[in-house]
Amino acid sequence: MRAALDAAARAAGRDPAELTLVAVSKTFPADAVRAAYAAGQRHFGENYVQEGCAKIDQLRSAPSLAEPTAGDSRHGLADAVWHFIGPLQSNKSRMVAERFDWVHSIDRESIARRLSEQRPAGMPPLRVCIQVNVSDESSKSGVPADAVLSLARTVAGLPGLELRGLMAIPAPSEDPAAQRAPFAALRRIRDDLEATGIALPDLSMGMSADYVAAVQEGATLVRIGSAIFGARPAREPDGAPPEAAA
Ligand SMILES: *Cc1c(COP(=O)(O)O)cnc(C)c1O
Repeated sequence: MRAALDAAARAAGRDPAELTLVAVSKTFPADAVRAAYAAGQRHFGENYVQEGCAKIDQLRSAPSLAEPTAGDSRHGLADAVWHFIGPLQSNKSRMVAERFDWVHSIDRESIARRLSEQRPAGMPPLRVCIQVNVSDESSKSGVPADAVLSLARTVAGLPGLELRGLMAIPAPSEDPAAQRAPFAALRRIRDDLEATGIALPDLSMGMSADYVAAVQEGATLVRIGSAIFGARPAREPDGAPPEAAA
């Protein structure tokens, strides 16, 4: 997958080093993460709080070896970087603040304030992206474009958070031009905010089916699941994880 992403970057006239591949391991067990880590993958994305936290705890509690060798499943994945990319309920924010390195799905001031307060003092600020609704569908999550500036100002002032950028999950489309439009819209929103003095170096956009379009429009964090780990089991229409995954 990394080679395909690098090729997409070069085809778009971009430096592949600008792109972080976030391997979305939701629904896949810790062993799948270990295998990807052994192959060199470092950034992992999780969507469901309980499942993601259990996996992180399981992987971190594995004893660290003095000299871990590639493929050794016993060491604790010390330099893995964990990204929370799913919807976040207030009552689960502490679990995320205490474990994850990134949250891509900030969509309201209250959740930003909670995460900032709950971030443990000994950890670096939680890196966050604001999720923007660029598809204008009532079913899609994220803040509307005209509310991003106000939320960005608030987030930028919270001591436990480091505002890094914007994230979007556009409505799916098979058509490459239609895929690019919402990513271009997110980039323009970012550029407008940067013109007001708010630094937003990252754009979290692109999944297995539309990463090429996202890379063309400036993605820096690309969230890829099924193209790395394979098809996921079907889930409930409300997006709840299967019981077995908890
Ligand atoms: C599941 C998921 C992904 C990965 O989707 P694939 O189509 O499997 O690549 C990326 N981002 C978010 C927010 C997701 O929920």
